[in-house]
Amino acid sequence: MFKAPSLEDVHTDLIIIGAGVAGITLAKQLNQANLDFWIMGSPFESQLAKAGELQNTNLPEGTVGLDFIQSMMDEIKELGVKNTTSQVKSMDIGEEFVLHTFRQKFIAKKVVLATGCKQTKLGFPGEKELFHKGISDCSVCDFPLYQDKIVGVVGSHEYTARAAELLAIGCKQVHLFWYRSDEVPFVSEKIIVHLKVDQIEAYGDEIIEGVKILTSGTEDNIQLNGLFVEGNPIPNISLVKDQVSLTKESYISIDENFQTSIENLYAIGDVTGSSKTYEEAKLHAIKAAEIIIKSMI
Ligand SMILES: Cc1cc2nc3c(=O)[nH]c(=O)nc-3n(C[C@H](O)[C@H](O)[C@H](O)COP(=O)(O)OP(=O)(O)OC[C@H]3O[C@@H](n4cnc5c(N)ncnc54)[C@H](O)[C@@H]3O)c2cc1C
Repeated sequence: MFKAPSLEDVHTDLIIIGAGVAGITLAKQLNQANLDFWIMGSPFESQLAKAGELQNTNLPEGTVGLDFIQSMMDEIKELGVKNTTSQVKSMDIGEEFVLHTFRQKFIAKKVVLATGCKQTKLGFPGEKELFHKGISDCSVCDFPLYQDKIVGVVGSHEYTARAAELLAIGCKQVHLFWYRSDEVPFVSEKIIVHLKVDQIEAYGDEIIEGVKILTSGTEDNIQLNGLFVEGNPIPNISLVKDQVSLTKESYISIDENFQTSIENLYAIGDVTGSSKTYEEAKLHAIKAAEIIIKSMI
């Protein structure tokens, strides 16, 4: 079997893991201080890329998350910041940090975790089997495929309701399956809301054909062309979960200097739980930059 050759090890002073708002903002600041560092991760995997039109930010009205994060990344690339979109598969923590990607090792004295959050899978029957076969976890990416079609959205988060609103613009009909909760935020009249869905099951042979739902003891069968799973965000902590202190909600615990419980390992942005928006992630990065720069010069 063909095996891609390994690339040469990279040695650097600091690595930022995560190319979301927090990671890229930090990279921009560190670059101004002429430090030797890398940023790893893909901006297209960041939450902003999935956010659609941004709300409650100081950015101009109508700013779209995907375009904006791409422009942030382009800016730091033009400035010459060393970067790779490779995913970090694992990290050894010793005197130095050794980060393993598919083909390469990166060795650094300090690491900043800016790994953010991903949306939870809900674990209902059919979710895994029909994923990418009519089930999607990104309404912003996939909504053009469902123009004039009947779709469902399942979850119980502010972003679930926003996904339903977005889909309602072009779809023929949108069913919102409000999962195990009866507190639904305002959604437009075009959306059929199913409150307090206790159970949901997706069915279909090659592709999704519909869902069976159980709501307050009543069963229903709804035919659909697509289903969007928009669960709650959970922190991306797999690289360090058995090694650093976590908060009660499983975010990475940090002190006032953005230090984790491991020396020279910092964390910023949504992975810490103390940021949940664009502006908060950006502010974290700006404050952390001051501290990190002082520690390196
Ligand atoms: C659907 C949705 C809508 C939203 N709408 C808004 C809004 O309107 N206004 C607002 O202010 N906020 C909004 N937010 C929240 C906002 O997007 C986040 O608070 C902010 O983007 C967090 O940035 P971050 O850099 O901390 O994390 P993230 O954006 O999650 O970025 C994390 C980065 O780390 C990378 N990564 C993770 N693990 C690894 C690894 N092992 N190796 C390499 N890279 C890794 C990821 O690929 C990604 O690039 C929304 C979020 C979502 C999901």
